[in-house]
Amino acid sequence: MKALTVIPGRADQVRIEDRADPVPGPGELLVEGRLLGICGTDYDIVEGHGYGWAPPGRERLVIGHESLGRVLTAPPGSGFEEGDLVVGIVRRPDPVPCTPCAHDEADFCRNGRYTERGIKELDGFGAQRWVTETRYAVKLDPALGDHGVLLEPASVLAKAWEQTDHFATRTSWRPKVVLVTGAGPIGLFAALLAVQRGLEVHVVDIEDSPPKRALVNDLGATFHTGDARDIGVAPDVVIECTGHGPLVFGLAELVAPDAVICLTGISPDASEVPLCADRVNRDLVLENIVMFGTVNAGRRNFEQAADVLAKADPGWLDRLITRRVPLEGFTDGLHKDEDDIKVVVDLWA
Ligand SMILES: [Zn+2]
Repeated sequence: MKALTVIPGRADQVRIEDRADPVPGPGELLVEGRLLGICGTDYDIVEGHGYGWAPPGRERLVIGHESLGRVLTAPPGSGFEEGDLVVGIVRRPDPVPCTPCAHDEADFCRNGRYTERGIKELDGFGAQRWVTETRYAVKLDPALGDHGVLLEPASVLAKAWEQTDHFATRTSWRPKVVLVTGAGPIGLFAALLAVQRGLEVHVVDIEDSPPKRALVNDLGATFHTGDARDIGVAPDVVIECTGHGPLVFGLAELVAPDAVICLTGISPDASEVPLCADRVNRDLVLENIVMFGTVNAGRRNFEQAADVLAKADPGWLDRLITRRVPLEGFTDGLHKDEDDIKVVVDLWA
């Protein structure tokens, strides 16, 4: 079988390798990989932005954490059978394990010794066949088809919204207006989940993009371009999806009282800007503002995301996948075109 391997941090070392088919152990599924989504984390691993670790004792990592495959073999009585459409959960508990890891919440790991498929010390899903323990596989509605490759990025937003909902229920007041910063795939999923919650949704991006604008409008949300401070919206919730530090610290003065600001993005940049730290502190304290970060997703968030995708308009989901590349096109796929949203690798093309 063919597998897409990299040496983390060496952009010139992406390689398609012939490898022996993996053999499932007890309690494991053998899966035929179908599609692999590419995201900014993959770019950071390949380009060497301090991300990505090969399995111990090895130089190369099978990359890929946004999976979609079909079950080839499943253990009897596992609840899975041949032909099931599945996605692999990315993060695995640390060996101690810490309390969250012991409770199926490795996305909240306390000691940093967790592992991640395709990112940290475990081979990923960028292969024509892969295995996974059944408890780290999520079965999808067959009607989702290729849109199932969107499950992993959607799961990250399912967690972000689950946590936001948690903070937003601390008083009798409930949020109504949401601002999403950034209209990439993460921002678009943030908007989709907000609309499914019945909220008034605004999405702001630094530049106009007709396809992104249309996707936002077709959700019933409003697309804005330019600076978030200039759009005349005082949101109750912000889902920040750009990872742009200077923007993050400007959000505290933009939001309504009692707002929740959820940070989902990071940036390899090292922006240094003049900042009145006491003013940011004052804004947060005097307005009861919650600002929190969120990363990755647990099993229940993958399951929530499966419901989100099942409820979404299939035509809308289809427009998120703007480019399909063959295995040989992975490196090209890392570099998004202007109007690209999600680029996927067809593992058999
Ligand atoms: Zn842990």
